Amino acid sequence: MKETVLSGMRSTGKLHLGNYFGAAVNYVKMQHEYDCYFFIADYHSLTTHPNPTELKHHVREMLATYLAVGLDPEVCTLYVQSDIPEIPELYLLLNMIAYKGELEKTASFKDKVRKAGQTINAGLLTYPVLMAADIIIHRAHKVPVGKDQEQHLEMTRNYVNRFNRLYEKEVFPEPVAFNFGDQLVKVPGLDGGGKMGKSEGEGNAVFLLDDEKINSKKIMRAKTDSGPTEPNSEKPVEIQNLFDIMQLVSTEETITTFNNAYNDCSIRYGDLKKQLAADVEQFIAPIRDKAKSIYDNETYLKEVMQHGAEKARINARITMDMVRDAIGINY
Ligand code: AMP
Repeated sequence: MKETVLSGMRSTGKLHLGNYFGAAVNYVKMQHEYDCYFFIADYHSLTTHPNPTELKHHVREMLATYLAVGLDPEVCTLYVQSDIPEIPELYLLLNMIAYKGELEKTASFKDKVRKAGQTINAGLLTYPVLMAADIIIHRAHKVPVGKDQEQHLEMTRNYVNRFNRLYEKEVFPEPVAFNFGDQLVKVPGLDGGGKMGKSEGEGNAVFLLDDEKINSKKIMRAKTDSGPTEPNSEKPVEIQNLFDIMQLVSTEETITTFNNAYNDCSIRYGDLKKQLAADVEQFIAPIRDKAKSIYDNETYLKEVMQHGAEKARINARITMDMVRDAIGINY
């Protein structure tokens, strides 16, 4: 039997090249090797109260993008979190074994409190409990998570162990963090700093669904310096970042040409960025076109959501039967 992998996708906003190379590409491969459950985490986004039109747009856009990059709803189970009523039911039950003190100590919660002061809602406090429910509703073994989510996964393991111990039944396996593939790709941003991310400032990320004009403008504005003055010198971070992105979207020949130009100090960053913008566009255009046509096909999207929900609920119901049996809610 294949192991179960589960991953949630934030429903707030769109995918950038970092999400694509760091996550989506792997999901597409993973779906053939594992029993994969991928869902759009719309309940989680309600902690910040998006307006209904925005929420609907984001969920549809996210689903269309993942379908466009190659998730196959016949191969994996692809669904929207709020279509699975078993998730909030399990969330309620897990809240009975989640301690208030440990939730208050979560790094992400403390961070929110620091930033938002008094406007903290209970949904933010119990975010890790909902995340645990998302994972264990499918009795998942493996969860592809980034460093920032490790603490939440640790809490999920705590709830799993607490539940199994309290009810003296091995209902849930302990989920572990999962790196698919040999190496973790980190896509750098355009601002000369660390990684590409949507919260790192407007000009930092290249989004898959943005049009050519927007993306080219961002790339042309990417941070550079005044150019190498000595042959074969080491590239400063902001220049290396551009070469790293090039590595993902350009041909070997292009990369060699610009590397040589850097090494003999003849490089012109304007040319480098123009080439990069063209290669990014060539790479993104088919994904964007496909995602846009899927987005416009409301009937198809609804079918995908319904099909995903049906598949996900079969497994979720099995889990909830086990949970209710263990607790004794089976009169
Ligand atoms: P986020 O956009 O932070 O919710 O991340 C969603 C997924 O994309 C996670 O699996 C991240 O590890 C991955 N990801 C986000 N940004 C990058 C990046 N710049 N490079 C590689 N992977 C990334």
